[in-house]
Amino acid sequence: MSKKLFLIIGAPGSGKTTDASLIAQKHSDKIVHYSTGDMLRAEVSSGSELGQTIESYISRGALVPLDIIVDTIVSAIDNAPVDVVLIDGYPRSVEQMEALDELLKEKDDIELVSVIEVRVSEQVAKERILGRAAEAKEGEARSDDSVEVFYDRMKVYTDPLADIQKFYTDKNLLHVIDGERTLEVIVEDMDNFIQSNI
Ligand code: AMP
Repeated sequence: MSKKLFLIIGAPGSGKTTDASLIAQKHSDKIVHYSTGDMLRAEVSSGSELGQTIESYISRGALVPLDIIVDTIVSAIDNAPVDVVLIDGYPRSVEQMEALDELLKEKDDIELVSVIEVRVSEQVAKERILGRAAEAKEGEARSDDSVEVFYDRMKVYTDPLADIQKFYTDKNLLHVIDGERTLEVIVEDMDNFIQSNI
C-alpha cells in the first residue's frame, strides 16, 4: 500500500512539531507524525556513537549531514504503522530537497502530497523559542534553545527557504499556513487541509 507523505516546514518556534503531533494524536488510526529534531534527539539520548556525532551538530544549530538525515526519514516512512505520514523539519536544505526528489522517483510506494509551510515572523519565532528556554525545567532545556544559537538556526532555516518555496510551488505542492494565530486555529486549519487531501 502506498504511503501519503506531508512535509511540514517552519522556522524554529513556528510550532510545526506541536501542530503536527496534535493532528496525529487526533487521528491516530490513520495518521502518524515524526519530527526530525525529535528523532535526532532520541538518537542522542540513546548514547550511541551516532548520537554523539548528531549532538555535535544540534548543539550549534547546524544541520546534521545528509546521509544521516535521509536514513532517518526513510526508515521512519518505511516503518510507519499507518499510511498517512507527517514529517516536520524536512527538507532544510536544497541538497535535502533534491535527495528526496530523487528518492521519490525510485520509490513508487511513497507519494508526496504536500509541503506545508507554517509561516511566522522572526520576532514571533524568537519570542517563542526564548519563552520555551525560560520555561524548561532544569536539565530539560534543549541545548539549542538559547539566544546565541537562535540566530544561527534562523539563518540556517532562512537561507535555502526561497529555493525550497520555488521548487515546491512549481510542482504545485506548497501550502502556506499562517502560524501566528492561536494553536487551536492553526491546528484546525492544517487538519482540514490534510483531511481534504487524503
Ligand atoms: P528542530 O527540533 O526541528 O528545531 O531541530 C533541531 C536540530 O536538529 C536542528 O537545529 C538541526 O541541528 C537538527 N535537524 C533537524 N532537522 C534536520 C534536518 N532536516 N537536517 C539536518 N539537521 C536537522
